[in-house]
Amino acid sequence: MSELPQTCQACQRPASPEALAYRKGDRTVSHDSFLQCDVCERLLCADCLQIYDILSGDDFLCAACAASLAAGATTRPAARPPR
Ligand SMILES: [Zn+2]
Ligand SMILES: [Zn+2]
Repeated sequence: MSELPQTCQACQRPASPEALAYRKGDRTVSHDSFLQCDVCERLLCADCLQIYDILSGDDFLCAACAASLAAGATTRPAARPPR
């Protein structure tokens, strides 16, 4: 039995129409519920979406996970064989 949270697990805002308009690339998409990060599985509102991104129709990363992935992508050596 798990109840879905009624507030964003990052900024604690309650769900509202304005808080559920998400950015997907250049577009904005509306959602009638919180989005769940694919990595840490927190449910988050669009208020955090100034920095959060939807990677595809279903894939969503919160800022923390997106930042860690971006950091890994930029700091990872391009052509370095594993030891
Ligand atoms: Zn939020
Ligand atoms: Zn996350």
